[in-house]
Amino acid sequence: MSAGYVYDPIYLKHDTGQHVEVAARLEAIVSHLEKTGLTKQLTPIEARPATIDEIALVHQRDYIKEIEDTAQKGGGWLDPDTVMSAGSYEAALYAAGGLIRAVEAVMGGEVGSAFALVRPPGHHATSRRAMGFCLFNNIAIAAKYALDKYKLERILIIDFDVHHGNGTQEAFYDNPRVMYISTHEYPFYPGTGSIEETGGGAAKGTNVNIPLPAGCGDAEYLKVFEQIIVPLARRFSPGLILVSAGYDTHRADPLAMMEVSTGGFAKMAGIIKGLAGELCGGRLALTLEGGYDLNALAASVKATFDVLLGNSIEDPLGGPPRRSGAVDIDRLIGTVKEIHKLS
Ligand SMILES: [Zn+2]
Repeated sequence: MSAGYVYDPIYLKHDTGQHVEVAARLEAIVSHLEKTGLTKQLTPIEARPATIDEIALVHQRDYIKEIEDTAQKGGGWLDPDTVMSAGSYEAALYAAGGLIRAVEAVMGGEVGSAFALVRPPGHHATSRRAMGFCLFNNIAIAAKYALDKYKLERILIIDFDVHHGNGTQEAFYDNPRVMYISTHEYPFYPGTGSIEETGGGAAKGTNVNIPLPAGCGDAEYLKVFEQIIVPLARRFSPGLILVSAGYDTHRADPLAMMEVSTGGFAKMAGIIKGLAGELCGGRLALTLEGGYDLNALAASVKATFDVLLGNSIEDPLGGPPRRSGAVDIDRLIGTVKEIHKLS
């Protein structure tokens, strides 16, 4: 069970100053993987910058130019949450290109699965707008690239970041070849992600939002995975699974109110890996989105790699959740199943 990872110090050159989405996030992950000896078990995959044509699979060319120009001017704020430095444009090209490389390594059989440890993150970026710390939509770009390059009929994107991936939803809303499934806290930033947003035209049913109330932990997420995501994935039968891996769903995260443990992320990764094995020859590529508690982030990314490698898992950040008492999501699950015609 070989697993690869993409990392490049160029990702640290996206300097956000006083911010939660900082270079220290990746540094924490990489040093934890190093310290625990995991790096030695993984296959390094060299990053490359995405080409402008690749970025333009998802983004308007004048928007790409605007990002380049902003970097050339030394950076600046693009919206109240999203800031750039001089190095951000290049880092963003390498973030999209890094995930493309992860996909190439998986599709080419160099590794069983791969995880792109990149920043800036991507799933909020729309075709013409930076938002939510995201400049280019890495996962949408990689999915479009993979559809074209490998002539895949269908790709499944699973997004377990605590925020809804509005940009990814937008990119594939009318595209029946890509199923986008998102679990997210709701109502919450960025405001999209309601249960009724199911896809347009021939793509109806391929956009699946599972808007969860605050306080959901491992039990609720596993229920959602087992009762909704697994049967939908089987029905869709993708040729590749891509994952927007956001660890701001962790109970220790400062931005959101979910209760998932490090072990919970391992269980989700196990289910996704199982789906990839069952449905598409194991072809699975993940990309880093959010996750803002450095210890929880590093431990959860390591746990994800442990699952990809088939190692046993321990949860160093275990312990009881912040709030006791399970959240009742049975009615929500019932509604999602009804809308998406799961018996
Ligand atoms: Zn997030």
